[in-house]
Amino acid sequence: MNRPSAGATRLVYSTELGRICPDCRAPVAECRCKALAAARPQGDGRVRISRETQRRGGKVVTVVRGLPLDEAALAALGKRLRSACGAGGTARDGVLEIQGEHLQRVASLLADEGWKAQVIAPMPGRSG
Ligand SMILES: [Zn+2]
Repeated sequence: MNRPSAGATRLVYSTELGRICPDCRAPVAECRCKALAAARPQGDGRVRISRETQRRGGKVVTVVRGLPLDEAALAALGKRLRSACGAGGTARDGVLEIQGEHLQRVASLLADEGWKAQVIAPMPGRSG
C-alpha cells in the first residue's frame, strides 16, 4: 500500500482554537475587530446612509457610505446589517448596499455598533 504521506503543509482547522470571530475569522483571542473599532478615525470618516434607486427596475436600496473599514470588516458589517434587515445586498468599494428601504433601521443598527451615521433623508416626494 502506497499511502501518500500526510503532508506537513496540510491545513488543519483545529477545534482547539475555540471560537472564531465571524468578522475577521481569527480566533477570538487574536481578534482585532474591537481594537480596530476603537482606533477608528473619529472626525475623518463621516458615515452617511441614504436611500437610492437602482436604475434597473427602479429597486430601492439603502446605501451606507463613508465607513472607514477595510474590505473584510465592511463585508462583515454588511452581513450583519443585511441579516438584521432580512434583505440582500452588497459590500464593495467601501459602500454597503442593502436592498429595500431600511434607513432608520440601518441607522439604529450602526448606532448600536458605535457608528454615528447621518441619514440623508430623501425628498419627501409623494407620487400622485
Ligand atoms: Zn474579529
